[in-house]
Amino acid sequence: MIPSEIIEKKRDGKRLSDKEIKWFIESVIDNKINDAQVSALLMAIFFRGMKDEEMFSLVEVMVNSGEKFNFNHLGSYVADKHSTGGVGDKISFILAPILSSLNIVVPMIAGRGLAFTGGTIDKLESIPDFQTNLSLSKFINQINNIGCCIASQSTEICPADKKLYSIRDLTGTIPSLPLICSSIMSKKIAEGLDGLVIDLKVGNGAFMKTLKNAKELAKGLKKIGKAFNINTEVLFTNMDQPIGKYSGLHCEIIEAMDCLKGNGPNDLMEITFGLGSKILLQNKMAINNQEAKNIMLDSINNGAALNKFKEVIFAQNGNVKNLDSSHMISENEIIIEAEDHGFINSIETEKIGWTLVEIGCGRKVSEDQLDYTAGIEFIKKIGDEVKKGDPIYRVFGKDNKRLNKAKTMLNKTYTIVKTEVLMNDLIIT
Ligand code: URA
Repeated sequence: MIPSEIIEKKRDGKRLSDKEIKWFIESVIDNKINDAQVSALLMAIFFRGMKDEEMFSLVEVMVNSGEKFNFNHLGSYVADKHSTGGVGDKISFILAPILSSLNIVVPMIAGRGLAFTGGTIDKLESIPDFQTNLSLSKFINQINNIGCCIASQSTEICPADKKLYSIRDLTGTIPSLPLICSSIMSKKIAEGLDGLVIDLKVGNGAFMKTLKNAKELAKGLKKIGKAFNINTEVLFTNMDQPIGKYSGLHCEIIEAMDCLKGNGPNDLMEITFGLGSKILLQNKMAINNQEAKNIMLDSINNGAALNKFKEVIFAQNGNVKNLDSSHMISENEIIIEAEDHGFINSIETEKIGWTLVEIGCGRKVSEDQLDYTAGIEFIKKIGDEVKKGDPIYRVFGKDNKRLNKAKTMLNKTYTIVKTEVLMNDLIIT
C-alpha cells in the first residue's frame, strides 16, 4: 500500500478499509511512515471524521500494538473510571480504593496533566517515593496481590496511541472526536475491563464546554465500549467550578485521604458516589443508587477504603506517613479577597487551571519542574455569601514570584451578585 493514497482517500472524505487502517498504523509503529504523512492523515481525519467501523478498526490496531491484560482468573469484576479532565479532580484516589475494597479489580492506567487540567500521575508523584512508572510484570503482580494499581501508561500499553498522541499534540489534531474516543478507549480496552464509568466533565473548566459536544463524545465512547464488550457508562458532571476544597498536587492527595476518612466535601463525594454507583449497578452489587451509595459509605466508615489506598501507596513504594492536613505545609501563600459583598455567582475555572500551571502544578513545556507543595484552596465557592475583604482563594507554594503572578491571573475570575444564587445540578441528566 502507498501512504499518500490512504491520506488522499481520507482527505477526499472517503471511507478507509480495515486493511488500510491496520497497514497504516502498523507502519507508523514500525517507523516506515514519516511523521509528515502521519500528521497529514490525522489532519484529514480531523476534518473528515471517521465512520464507526473505521474508528473500531483504529481502536483494534491501537490495542493490538501493545500488551493486553486479562484478570479473569481473579474471579472478580474488573472495572475502572476515566475522567475527561478538570480542576480539583481527585476522584480516582477516592473511588479506586473504594471499589477495590469492595473486591472489584481496578487496573487503572492514568495520565499526566493536560493543558489546564490536573494529572492523576503528577498528583500521585507528590507522595514521597511513590512509583507510577511500573513494569508490566510489577503492574500485573500488584493487581494479582492487592487488586488495585494506579500507574502511568507504559511503552508496552497501546504504543500506537502514544505515538499518534504525541503527533496530535504538535499538529492541532487533539480535538477530533474519533481520535479522542479511540485514544481513550484503546487504553481502557487494553486494561481488560468488564466495566468502565466515564466522568464526562462539562463546563467552563472542562474540555467540553457544552452538553451538546459532551453528548457527541459520550456517543463515540459508548459505541466503542459496546463494540469491544466493555460495559461503558457515562456520567455528565458539572465543571463550572473546581471540585472540592483544593486544587494542586499534594494538597489533592491529602484531600482525598480526608474523603476516605469520611470528611469529604459534598460536591466531591456526590460525584464519587455517582460514578461508583454505575459500577456497583453494572456488576449487580446494588440494585439502585441509594443501595450503592450505602455500600460505598460503609467501606469508608469501616476504614476499608482508606486501608486500601494506603495498601496501594505502600505497594508502589510510597510513604504513607504524613498524608494528613497537618502536613499540608507550604512556604508562602497569598490570599485573594472579595472586592464586594454579595453571593459568588460564577468562577472562571479554566483560568484557575492555568493559574495552577503557573504556580507549578502543571507544565507549559514537558521539562517544567512541578512544585508538589503548590495549590489553591477555594475558601468560597458558587452560592456562598461573601463580605468585602473576605478571603476567596488561598494560593500557596514555594515561589513568591509565581504566587504574585497567580494573584494577577486570579483577579476577576469570580463574579459576585447581590441576590442569592441557585446552584446548578452537579450531575447533569
Ligand atoms: N485523553 C486521551 O487519553 N486521549 C485523548 O485523545 C484525549 C484525552
